[in-house]
Amino acid sequence: MRFVYMESIERDMAIKIPKVMRAVVYRGINHLQVEQVPVPRITRSEVLVKVAACGVCPTDIKKIQYGILEAPRIFGHETAGTIVKMGAGVTGWRLGQRVGLHHHIPCLKCHACVRRAFAQCSLYKKTGISAGFKPSGGGYAEYVRVSAFCLPGLVPIPKASTFLEGAMLEPVNTVLKAIKLLTLLPGDHVLVAGQGPIGLLFTKLLQLHQIRVLATDPLEERRKIAKQFGALSVHDPLSGSLPEVIHRMTRGRGVDAAIIAVPSDEAVHQAQQWVRGGGQICLFAHTRAGTTTPLDLSITCVQEKQLIGSYSSDFTLQKEVAQWVFSRALDVRKLITHRFPLEKTSEAVQLAACPSPSALKVLVTQADAEAEINQDPLKPTRC
Ligand SMILES: [Zn+2]
Ligand SMILES: [Zn+2]
Repeated sequence: MRFVYMESIERDMAIKIPKVMRAVVYRGINHLQVEQVPVPRITRSEVLVKVAACGVCPTDIKKIQYGILEAPRIFGHETAGTIVKMGAGVTGWRLGQRVGLHHHIPCLKCHACVRRAFAQCSLYKKTGISAGFKPSGGGYAEYVRVSAFCLPGLVPIPKASTFLEGAMLEPVNTVLKAIKLLTLLPGDHVLVAGQGPIGLLFTKLLQLHQIRVLATDPLEERRKIAKQFGALSVHDPLSGSLPEVIHRMTRGRGVDAAIIAVPSDEAVHQAQQWVRGGGQICLFAHTRAGTTTPLDLSITCVQEKQLIGSYSSDFTLQKEVAQWVFSRALDVRKLITHRFPLEKTSEAVQLAACPSPSALKVLVTQADAEAEINQDPLKPTRC
């Protein structure tokens, strides 16, 4: 123990941490501004991480575009970086360690947690990673403070893996969590509506679970990529051919489940028709409160087609997620198409909000991630 402590003091001195840093501050609807802010101070039970990469997530885009949360804030929660400072009471980690972060951690003890409804736990709803102001993720800054309760969410990034892969752990976790809610058997048919970065993660992870995926997207380029990501068949949802295809492929039964990875009510209505009796329809992208749609509830009651929702990540799946990503059985590098420097975070958000057909996952990268990227043949476009 004493040795570790001595070592951390030495390394602490070796890693120079400035007093101020650059951060992208949310100042109001669609207003992100690069500012100088103090580097967060940590308590004895916290850790300071130097950010290398942070993904642009649709949930943050919504907060920025619709002003759901009051300003000022520093967003960004799909973060990977290096531990550069540790409080004296922190054990189990070391300075210089490369890690992926999780900003939401459940208590594992409350009424919701023991029933595995982690995203409904009150501790989980608190954000434990911050670059200043009200904790909001902080990944669009040079440094973040990791609160004590979020330390179990740190995932070490192995030597052979990159910061970019570390930044993908959180979105992959949300997808795996939703898949685990489905009662699927190998060989089952699942419809995945929407082949954006999340839809493609569903397609690939389901294929890795021996599920036959029917992937839909109106964009031809997305359909092509879905094929490369393991979709058994790809379809334009607007072509009108899907009912017949599903009928043929499932011998008239209907698909076993549908995942709606696009905020389309029409996709939900269609899924209600195309899922077999007793199957499941999982809403993944309907995150905007206050929208309603008429539904035939007898489909849920009499035909037993369950309508379920899945939101955010499942802390208990972290190890499995790390294995899929770091083994590259799920090669997330193929999903990352664009990288932006911190100063251009606003443009990164715009591209992710209105992607070109070839744009998939967009990340904000900083010096440490850039140093690695130059050695990686699967380089995303630098913007
Ligand atoms: Zn996210
Ligand atoms: Zn809890």
